[in-house]
Amino acid sequence: MSKEILVTGSSRGIGKEIALYLANNGYDIVLHCRNNIEKAQEVQKQIEAAGQKARILQFDVKDRKKSFEALENDIKQNGVYFGVVLNAGIARDNVFPIMTETEWDDVIDTNLGSFYNVLKPVIMPMIEERVKGRIVTLSSISGLRGNRGQVNYSASKAGIIGATKALSLELAKRGITVNCVAPGVIESDMTKDLPVDEVKKLIPMRRMGTCKEVASLVNYLMSDDASYITGQVISVNGGLYS
Ligand code: NDP
Repeated sequence: MSKEILVTGSSRGIGKEIALYLANNGYDIVLHCRNNIEKAQEVQKQIEAAGQKARILQFDVKDRKKSFEALENDIKQNGVYFGVVLNAGIARDNVFPIMTETEWDDVIDTNLGSFYNVLKPVIMPMIEERVKGRIVTLSSISGLRGNRGQVNYSASKAGIIGATKALSLELAKRGITVNCVAPGVIESDMTKDLPVDEVKKLIPMRRMGTCKEVASLVNYLMSDDASYITGQVISVNGGLYS
């Protein structure tokens, strides 16, 4: 039986590519989205065409009650996950002096709130079933370095790093690894409005990264080869602020 991995925010962008990459490496996938169910269904078809199983959960990771309900029901019906990729996230950029309450709350509640809302219902069953599982979170270069116009996003992504490191210490003796991937600037909907030529000048490799370049690292962290790596933050950034 294939190991099963939940990838939050896998209807598009980095999450979609992670789901496809993992499926092509023999994992079954629990896809997840908030709004774009049609896009998630397309990803599901691609995974099934690759010979793996996929089902879709739809809930807002900001909503604790809905997240708990959806995940607890899914685990009750289908069993414990081997791995979770905490990928769903948003940016709502603005300079801090004029940042609105909504811009602050939405980003913190989505990016950092999801650490609790998604991982809390998933971890205890993993422990009870003695699964030597894998948790991979998505931070960002903004969480490592801070970024102008992204006080909210940087705070949420720095929070993810702290939470990842702390959880890795709690779960290490159970053989569950918890690591964080911190991408630089990756081609996706989130970055489609950036001034590409200006951004490229800042990146030592002079190009943006691809979703696949992030996905391959997540796939490695899920593998047996990565069983002694935990509590780490690994950047995929073309040399940006390395
Ligand atoms: P996209 O905007 O392309 O995709 C975001 C995904 O997250 C979608 O699947 C979306 O679902 C889902 N999502 C967003 N908000 C919620 C929510 N409240 N509840 C449930 N699902 C939600 O983003 P990327 O692929 O670019 O980013 C993926 C992750 O990587 C994020 O955590 C981001 O912060 C991080 N990252 C991205 C970088 C980049 O350069 N792109 C750089 C560094 C980090 P739906 O389709 O239904 O809206």
